[in-house]
Amino acid sequence: MNALIVKGNIIYTKEMEQFEVFENSYLVSVDGKVVGIYKALPDAYSDMPIEDYGNRLIIPGFVDLHVHAPQYLQMGLGMNKQLLEWLTEYTFELEKKFKDLNFAQKAYEYFAEDLVASGTLRACVYATSSTAATEILFEILKEKGIGAYIGKVNMERNAPNSILESMEDSLEGTKYLIGKYKDEKLVKPILTPRFAPSCTQELLGELGKIANDYDVPVQSHLSETKREVEWVRELFPDAKNYLDLYGRSGLLKNAIMAHAIYLEEEEMMEAKERDVILIHCPDSNINLRSGIMPVREYLNRGLKITLGSDVAGGHRLAMNEAMVRAIQLSKLINIQSPEVEPLRVSEAFYMGTKAGGAFFGKTGSFEEGYFLDALVIEDHPLVAKLYSIEERLEKFLYTGNSQNICARYVEGKQI
Ligand SMILES: [Zn+2]
Repeated sequence: MNALIVKGNIIYTKEMEQFEVFENSYLVSVDGKVVGIYKALPDAYSDMPIEDYGNRLIIPGFVDLHVHAPQYLQMGLGMNKQLLEWLTEYTFELEKKFKDLNFAQKAYEYFAEDLVASGTLRACVYATSSTAATEILFEILKEKGIGAYIGKVNMERNAPNSILESMEDSLEGTKYLIGKYKDEKLVKPILTPRFAPSCTQELLGELGKIANDYDVPVQSHLSETKREVEWVRELFPDAKNYLDLYGRSGLLKNAIMAHAIYLEEEEMMEAKERDVILIHCPDSNINLRSGIMPVREYLNRGLKITLGSDVAGGHRLAMNEAMVRAIQLSKLINIQSPEVEPLRVSEAFYMGTKAGGAFFGKTGSFEEGYFLDALVIEDHPLVAKLYSIEERLEKFLYTGNSQNICARYVEGKQI
């Protein structure tokens, strides 16, 4: 039996509304999957080695559903710009450099190091349009042992020529990566049309066919700023709305969409009907002054809301910070509209663990049958003495960083 037993103060969310807390307990997994949490270890496991973390916290690994690996280098730069200027002046200039594979290797290692240190154990990652550089990113994240979907970015217009590709090259590179990595256990390909304005209707349609033929999921951007929504309307006058454009292209069968700030009534209905996962990226939305996602309204409508760092619109990879920023933004909405309840800590935590984890199968929780993806958190002994498990987690989310994370497990294996 390939078992892992970790002991400590276990805390996670099964439902958004509340934490499940197991003080000083054993979390047992077999073949990478949780079988149970016990106050006293059952006889069946008594011979197994135990990793005893004493008074530390054991929580599910963080899940980042939206992050741009190449932009890690520009994190914290150009933050006085708005989206479209920022892309042109900073992002596209940087992404050009990834054609140099030496540069790509170093830059992606730098990114991956911090991603794992920050406690992100599952991520949906954008690379650049360079197929060869994207392949390097696959290899680096495989080596790290975390779970990820990685997308070569498809783009054929509205950016400098140096990062654009012909439709044929873009599709060919995409199919090559699917062929090479589709059956990987932890790091898999995802279709990544950058955002609608980077693509023609024809390219979107071809990607839709690939999504269907190869059964590959899709990630993109949706309704991030008002100007972008206007632009999409001009570029694609036949589409009913922004989401419909992806839908009519066959791209919404298994899709995650970042931002989704300015959805129309019909888009909200379609997102729900098609089970589209929406990704709230609070830091990015503040930095680029894009807007505020009406998270409470979406949750009340039963939409699936998760979290993303959106580095480098966001300026931190740490998902505990994204959770906190989501709560803070919801409080700003509450100041303006007191009837709209701000997010609770458990709700933000759920979004950044179980809700996002669902995209990877059963991850992000410690319920029976879930993959054991876990972080072990160490806080100050005085804090540990004074406060409850739930309070200690809240404090870590608000004030902690990678230095508080003393162990990381993916599918029952320490990485
Ligand atoms: Zn983005």
